[in-house]
Amino acid sequence: MQKNLQQLLENLILWLKYQRQAGIDEIPIQILAQIRQIDMAKEKKNIPSKGPGDNLSSIKSLSQLQTLVEQCELCELARTRGKVVFGEGNPSPILMIIGEAPGREEDIQGRPFVGRSGELLTKMLRAINIDRKEVFITSVIKCRPPGNRTPSKKEINTCMPYLTRQIELLCPSIILCLGGIAAQSLLNVTKSLSSLRGKFYDLNGIKVTVTYHPAYLLRFGGMKQKDLKRKAWHDLQMLQAEYEKYKKKTTG
Ligand code: SF4
Repeated sequence: MQKNLQQLLENLILWLKYQRQAGIDEIPIQILAQIRQIDMAKEKKNIPSKGPGDNLSSIKSLSQLQTLVEQCELCELARTRGKVVFGEGNPSPILMIIGEAPGREEDIQGRPFVGRSGELLTKMLRAINIDRKEVFITSVIKCRPPGNRTPSKKEINTCMPYLTRQIELLCPSIILCLGGIAAQSLLNVTKSLSSLRGKFYDLNGIKVTVTYHPAYLLRFGGMKQKDLKRKAWHDLQMLQAEYEKYKKKTTG
């Protein structure tokens, strides 16, 4: 019972924080009663409560969403982050690229994929004739986990609705996930990156594919790096073929 009460309070705090960020500062008492009813129903069905997701459909533009995300304090990472990294790039992209979470340099600059892994990503795209400006780049988690640790399941679940809404607003034809966490979170699977890569998956009509995170490619040297780069090159060529099909369609 105590655990349920604590969960209810946590959910209520998250929801109230979201309302405040959305500019609402008065909550009618009937709504509070409805929240309790919804939570009781969730408890019965064992549905985990989400962060801001249920209310994001009212956000109609990317800049509105960015303002909201930049003020977000829905998870622990708000306490330790430098800058929120919302993402950047073409607002009507054929291709959207999703990494795991901001690293040290991204946290300082508030921009995605800067520093060494960003440089490698730009080179990887250039190798398949894609300019970085043509795509939109973001990550599953918008704030840096301290010490670049892997984000927890709870942090991913809390932040995920922002990514979902970003995808809905950007409407890309293709999504490239960089690394296992991005792919598993987006596709809602637990399979390893090596078993996920080399294919396209359907996500509500969007083609999703996966390759190694540039930071992972930079971590190794010698034969291991050669082997990983060979596999990444295979994934990129597959992506290029698909990208060019969509590009031809849009340019006529
Ligand atoms: S990681 Fe996401 S949910 Fe957590 S504070 Fe940052 S924007 Fe909010």
